[in-house]
Amino acid sequence: MDTFKISKIFHWEMGHRLPFHTGGCQNVHGHSYTMRVELEGTKNANGMILDYDDLKTAVKHIIDKWDHAFLVDDSDEIMKTFLKTNGLKFVVFKGNTTAENISHYLCEVLKNILASNKNLTAIEVTVKETLTSDAIAKRNF
Ligand SMILES: [Zn+2]
Repeated sequence: MDTFKISKIFHWEMGHRLPFHTGGCQNVHGHSYTMRVELEGTKNANGMILDYDDLKTAVKHIIDKWDHAFLVDDSDEIMKTFLKTNGLKFVVFKGNTTAENISHYLCEVLKNILASNKNLTAIEVTVKETLTSDAIAKRNF
């Protein structure tokens, strides 16, 4: 059976820092994140791998939480205290908020949300922090 790929790009603004880093990324800063979700599979009865609207819906609740928020490593007590004390928008993340970990997390979450679409065979999530840097996570269904 023929396989196809579709992709869609999403965008959000988010703050973070890498407490372990010694080269500058330990400081509070942010990125205009871009995520490209690529889905591979066979066409369903409607001639689609997946309706782009369904992908948008799956991603929307994550981006709504993350946009203009601070993604804080769950072990970063300094930032958690600061963000809570000042009533700022933040999301606690398990582990370092690297592009690798973010793409891995998003790939897992989206794979679980979309798993009922039995024609899907693989998902690839590319998270771009800057114009020149990205990380890619891939999972098979
Ligand atoms: Zn950064």
